[in-house]
Amino acid sequence: MTGPQRVLITGGASGIGRAMADAFREDGALVHIADVDGTADLPPEGGFTVADVSDPDEVDRLFDDVVAGFGGLDVLCANVGIAGPTGPVEELEASDWDRTMAVNVRSAFLCCRRSVPLLHEAGGGSILLTASTAGITGYPMRSPYAASKYAVVGLGKTLAMEVGELGIRVNVICPGSVDGERIDRVIAAESTATGIPEANLRAGYEKQVSMRTFVEGRDIGAMAVFLASPAARFVNGQTISVDGGLETLRNSWRT
Ligand code: NAD
Repeated sequence: MTGPQRVLITGGASGIGRAMADAFREDGALVHIADVDGTADLPPEGGFTVADVSDPDEVDRLFDDVVAGFGGLDVLCANVGIAGPTGPVEELEASDWDRTMAVNVRSAFLCCRRSVPLLHEAGGGSILLTASTAGITGYPMRSPYAASKYAVVGLGKTLAMEVGELGIRVNVICPGSVDGERIDRVIAAESTATGIPEANLRAGYEKQVSMRTFVEGRDIGAMAVFLASPAARFVNGQTISVDGGLETLRNSWRT
């Protein structure tokens, strides 16, 4: 590869995706953002496509934009994910299950299948999937989310085997609880579903971590830049947590 890395980040308008975009830009990369929310105030460099990446036609339009803007691609960060419903499994709706799977899993599949030919054409590259520690430990009251993240881990592991010989590396990043609006919404929903006060839930999440802390978006951004860099040239097919040492992800009980 010559010239700056050309990076596509889905869900890059806010949260972890935004932090990844900042980290790649600071590292000198060109960044194209895809997000369903078109209202974000983004830096003028790079590109921005407003798209729902769970929809194949919108993903095709996104990749047309990326190719028109960058002429190719070196790094895909398939980062989009929604929290899905909170509650005991017998109370959840099939439509919520389907939406969680579509946004969290189908979007990654759709973006990977469009990226592989571009990364191959570029002489190799990197795919980074954002899963979650929920995709390693399970997550009571969040069964669709946890199942979707196990699927993302499986997709990453499998694609690493499928495209490694093309010089394309595929790794999965599992963030722990990341400080920000998203975890605030997650805790509020869990509080509503269980009756446990938000402050107790927050303290519980911290206690699950050896370092007794939440992490920050920039910690995930730094890991993404490392994994996409030549320093990680033989890191492939891995599922890597950035979580301060999560010991369990059980915060809610039925009784
Ligand atoms: P977020 O809700 O703060 O941001 C997600 C972004 O994705 C938003 O900008 C949103 O508009 C966009 N988006 C949502 N659905 C989309 C769609 N269908 N198409 C295009 N864009 C869409 O979430 P976040 O905390 O930044 O999470 C990013 C990833 O990290 C997700 O996969 C999430 O599951 C994972 N994760 C987050 C945490 C956490 O504590 N925040 C922990 C573990 C894993």
